[in-house]
Amino acid sequence: MLTYADKMEIVRQHQSGAPVQTVPLAKDLGVNVYHVPDWPGDLSGKIMKSEKHGGKSGYAIYVNQAHHSNRRRFTTAHEIAHFILHQDSIGDGITDDGLYRSRLSNAMEAQANRLAADILMPWHLLNKYIDGGTKSVDKLAGIFKVSESAMSIRLGVPA
Ligand SMILES: [Zn+2]
Repeated sequence: MLTYADKMEIVRQHQSGAPVQTVPLAKDLGVNVYHVPDWPGDLSGKIMKSEKHGGKSGYAIYVNQAHHSNRRRFTTAHEIAHFILHQDSIGDGITDDGLYRSRLSNAMEAQANRLAADILMPWHLLNKYIDGGTKSVDKLAGIFKVSESAMSIRLGVPA
């Protein structure tokens, strides 16, 4: 089983350029990612142990295919964050609703959202673009393939 440090090292290896590719990152963590076509819109994603669908770690992530690709990327990063931070709490599975709420505590969900932002928008890459003169939220959101609201929150500017 990978330690927290092992997992974070794998994350760093996938942060050499923007956009960070979430599905290959998950794969390197031993987690397969599937897009589910027939979910209700208020369901974002799920991570569970699956003998049939799991990757090397035994876990699989399921993402609502109906959502916009930026949203799917955030959901994948959020479920990866649960795998990194909360593997011992996953049990039969964690299902996140549209607001990324699950049976885990709000504090754990907030933690997963913060790590998801760190995965998709690492400061060393963001600062490279900002220092290079790319300062607008919509341009940076486009480069990092995240929603403008996610980028606004990251940069601490009003959406
Ligand atoms: Zn969650």
